[in-house]
Amino acid sequence: MAGQNVKDLIKKLVALQKFDTELYEYKRGLKDKPAELEGLKEKYEAKKQQFHELETSIKQAELARKKVEGDLKNKEDDIVKANAALMTLKTNKEYQIKLFEIENLKADKSILEDEILRSMETVEKLQQDVVKEKEFLAGEEKQYLAEKEKIDAAIRALEEKVDGLAGQRREAAEGIDKNMLAVYERVIDNRGGIALVPVAGMSCGGCFMNVPEQTVNRIKMYEDVVRCEMCARFIYLPEDL
Ligand SMILES: [Zn+2]
Repeated sequence: MAGQNVKDLIKKLVALQKFDTELYEYKRGLKDKPAELEGLKEKYEAKKQQFHELETSIKQAELARKKVEGDLKNKEDDIVKANAALMTLKTNKEYQIKLFEIENLKADKSILEDEILRSMETVEKLQQDVVKEKEFLAGEEKQYLAEKEKIDAAIRALEEKVDGLAGQRREAAEGIDKNMLAVYERVIDNRGGIALVPVAGMSCGGCFMNVPEQTVNRIKMYEDVVRCEMCARFIYLPEDL
């Protein structure tokens, strides 16, 4: 391979790199988008979970209230029984003891009634929170679905672009030596989608390191496609093609 052949090969690689630069961008988008979507989904699911926890706390508060209501009922029964017993007592001392017992039961009952009031307030407050949070969550869902729709559409558009370019890219790669193409593609994968760069002002257009004069002279001999010693990309002189 020499002279014009090498120049032709470089021209082919320049055309191919154009497609690959574009494709690399699209493919990176295709890789990033699903993660972006997953992040949004996780945030939305976390908000949903918070709402479920709120609902659970209402159920727990209601159960707690029912338990106190049961306790109150028992206390009231005890008072009725104690009052009935009062009538059957014979000595004044027994009577005083029973009266004292009834006073204690009434004090307990009053505490339970306060507790029920408090837990009713708690449940009411939680119910108001649920109404508010439900509305908030509905808004969040709407927003999430709209974002998802946008990302899904972007993914579809990128896939279409990749499909659309694939045929053109295949054509551009035709006639390039298989081994050469394999090396080129490996550099594409390892060097951020760019395997072929121009030399400008004695610098590599990929890593911007100095390209020695000796290397520039090697390029000008067109005996082979020369690679940058620093980044291993293929380098060429655009003004020379
Ligand atoms: Zn370089």
